[in-house]
This record gives sequence, structure tokens and C-alpha cells, in this order.
Amino acid sequence: MKAIMAPWRMAYVMGKKAEGCIFCQDSIRDECLVLHEGTRAFITMNRYPYTNGHLLIAPYRHVANFEDLDNEEGKEIFDLAALSVRVLKEVMRPDGFNIGINIGKAGGAGVGDHVHLHVVPRWSGDTNFMTILAETRVVPEDLGKTHENLLPYFKKLAREE
Ligand SMILES: [Zn+2]
Repeated sequence: MKAIMAPWRMAYVMGKKAEGCIFCQDSIRDECLVLHEGTRAFITMNRYPYTNGHLLIAPYRHVANFEDLDNEEGKEIFDLAALSVRVLKEVMRPDGFNIGINIGKAGGAGVGDHVHLHVVPRWSGDTNFMTILAETRVVPEDLGKTHENLLPYFKKLAREE
């Protein structure tokens, strides 16, 4: 399996974890990373993205185990994933996506105690971007800029649903 080169993730892995749960605190709202507020779940930018446009969808409720999500939370998380894909396709035109949930430390979960779904837009060749696309991809688009680009589309497409 090819590793995606994302140096800012290493800083995250090596750094000290903040106390408390990032999905339960207001820190991601204070940083203006949230893109959409649903009824039971919300969409936020990942502060440590694998690729530009890497989004996270989490229930408001602090649910540690995937199997403890209730049906309504599960449905809304899937609806918000579909909304995210629609917005990212329109704004960023990726060649593909990874959508998934990492469970437990062995499963690669960075925030192990609050279930969240990753929506990661992918571009052909992005696993090799350090060498092939160094000119354009080593410096990721600024998170604030990506947020600014995506937000109007979330507002627009969420209204149309
Ligand atoms: Zn939490």
C-alpha cells in the first residue's frame, strides 16, 4: 500500500494530543472549520488533511463505538457524506474519493473516542505528489481558503435537497 505523503500529519502524530474531544469542544467552530450544521451531525474540515478538501462528518453526540450510532445519526451521516461528495465534485473536481471510518488505534483512528466519517477527495497520482506534482501540491491550499471556497456550495446544495 502506498502511503500518502502528508508532512503536516506527522506533526500531528508526533505532537501532544489536546485534552478532551475535538468534536465536542467548540475549538473547530472557533477556527471556522465547520462547513455544515445538521440536526444530529455536522461537517467540518479536517485540520490535518490528507488532501485538500478532506472533510470529517461527526454526530453531535459523543459516541465512541460505531455500532452505538442510532439509525437517525447513521442516516444523517450518510446524507451529509453524499452532500460532501456533491460539493467537492462541483468545487474541486477530484478523480475519486475515499470514504470511511477508522475504528480503534489499530484501525488508524486519530480521535478514537468520537466516531467520525472521513470524506477524502483523491486525484490521480496524488499518492506520488511529493515527486510528481511537487510544484503544485507540496504546499496544500490554506484551510481557511478551502473553507471559503466550499462554504457557499454547502449552503446552496443543502438548500436544494
Ligand atoms: Zn466527543
